[in-house]
Amino acid sequence: MSNKALHCPTCKKTVTADNPDFPFCSDRCRIIDLGKWASGDYKITSPIHDPDLLEDLVREQNRSSET
Ligand SMILES: [Zn+2]
Repeated sequence: MSNKALHCPTCKKTVTADNPDFPFCSDRCRIIDLGKWASGDYKITSPIHDPDLLEDLVREQNRSSET
């Protein structure tokens, strides 16, 4: 028997590490999870979240509008 078990990210069923589809309980659940990623249900990062970078952009815009 396996010593490792997780919950399937899709249906929360307990999955053991000897399952060929681990950490998913089945091929179906893996495809559903991949589909979520592909359709953008999960957001990883926003384009600009660096305050310094934003400041630079604003400064650059102000400078060009002055001339
Ligand atoms: Zn599942």
